[in-house]
Amino acid sequence: MMKNDVMERLNQRLQSYIPASISAPNEEALYAAESIYGMPKKEADEYKLKAIRYIFRHHYDNNKFYREICREHDVSPDAIKSIDDFSKIPLLPHRFFKDYPSGRDFAVWLANLMSVELPKITIPQKNPTFDEVIDSFQKAGITVCYSSGTTGKFTFIPRDEQTYRMGQYAIARCAIEMLPEWWDYESYAYLLFPNPKKTNLYVGKVTNVLSDLVKNVDVALDRKITTELLRIAMGVTFTFKEKMMSKIARSTSKKRNETMVANILRWLEERDKNRDRIIFAGAPFILNAVMDKLAEEGKTYEFGKRGAVLTGGGWKIYEDKRLPVADFRKKVEETLGIPPEHCLDLYAMVESNGFLVHCSKGHYLHIPTTYFHAMVLDEEGNEVAYGEEGRFAFLDSLAVSYPGFISTGDKVKIHERCPACGREGPVLEPEVERIRGEEIRGCAEEFRRIIMEE
Ligand SMILES: [Zn+2]
Repeated sequence: MMKNDVMERLNQRLQSYIPASISAPNEEALYAAESIYGMPKKEADEYKLKAIRYIFRHHYDNNKFYREICREHDVSPDAIKSIDDFSKIPLLPHRFFKDYPSGRDFAVWLANLMSVELPKITIPQKNPTFDEVIDSFQKAGITVCYSSGTTGKFTFIPRDEQTYRMGQYAIARCAIEMLPEWWDYESYAYLLFPNPKKTNLYVGKVTNVLSDLVKNVDVALDRKITTELLRIAMGVTFTFKEKMMSKIARSTSKKRNETMVANILRWLEERDKNRDRIIFAGAPFILNAVMDKLAEEGKTYEFGKRGAVLTGGGWKIYEDKRLPVADFRKKVEETLGIPPEHCLDLYAMVESNGFLVHCSKGHYLHIPTTYFHAMVLDEEGNEVAYGEEGRFAFLDSLAVSYPGFISTGDKVKIHERCPACGREGPVLEPEVERIRGEEIRGCAEEFRRIIMEE
């Protein structure tokens, strides 16, 4: 089968992300499963049951605060015998990960979140900033990823090496399973996110794997991005100096933005001339700006099936404007000649290692079937029926270093099967929204503020 051949090539490329011996059930669900999205339900459910039971026991045994929550709910690992019992697993509200103290207490807070033995972490500063704590954790092998909402509050998630490695493998695997005939290592990628080497912003960190997936990677935003810079970009300033920084950032952003678009246009011209395979991966608003510029110049390209677009992080393109994904696909086809079946969106968040990717047929968001369990909840926290809307929640077996049993602030609609393609397992409607009253987030949003502020 052609598809298996692709997976074989992919695993060769991603060898450094795969452990030498696969033994734990969550590793089996990720690495040994033949397909993340395409397996018969019975087989996928077997992987899933083992993986989630395993990881629930792990957090119960190794995480003091989570075990206390379980005791309050009167649930122990022995209570989880089938997938029907998954609803007994206590969920953490997403706000929990936003409720952090500052200074050295921030380090203690992070450490208490973790379900793995901590390496020795040395923090030289007396009263460290968030970025200094994050750097100290990184030196000890813990990658603290974050994203931020519009109010300047962050969500912090500590990932140990195993969790981070599995997350990167998972995003690559999930993306390529949906774009198997496009993928070839000898391609050119434009990452429409910050440079993974220069930030701990989650969208940057998780896309680090792109440079192992594709031979040539260019990056749209090559500056170092810290929590401090992000907060100031969000307009949350504490001192006179920060107010000035915020002002200067706003006044120079137009120029920076133009330079970024010009760089991408040059890249496109070059790739077209050499008939290269290309992919744009990242924030849709940047590609939208590029396409607007092309339209202004009356220019189009015909990349056809040599091209692909994988968007992620949210669909706000201007302050209040949201671009419907179907319109975006049409624009991509008209401007770049990349067909809609190669233009997919990916739904993910800093708290999880589950990657929901559009299928090429109907552009429904497919939920990983082997290592991840999704739920849609009503206001009381009970699961809604298929076809209904509610709050997205999940159980993530790849989250080893923190309990990945989380209810989010996103509103989704779930279907028992994909109305468009033959894959088994539930899917979400193509577009996800924030629940009213939840602050606007989306990984592209914070990034948009850094470079698009007028
Ligand atoms: Zn589908």
